[in-house]
Amino acid sequence: MQDEVEVCCPYCGETVALVIDPETSGTFVQDCDVCCNPWAVTVERDADGDPYLSVERAQ
Ligand SMILES: [Zn+2]
Repeated sequence: MQDEVEVCCPYCGETVALVIDPETSGTFVQDCDVCCNPWAVTVERDADGDPYLSVERAQ
């Protein structure tokens, strides 16, 4: 089962639902669905495995 997390784009400010696999953690680059700019997405998980995402501009 995949996790769906809403994140706020650091470029266009839109809220976008990001789907991640259960084994996904660490940092990856993903393009915004709305403005196509690259995000640096960092995934951390708590003890229950619930994901916490932070999104920054990938340079
Ligand atoms: Zn965007």
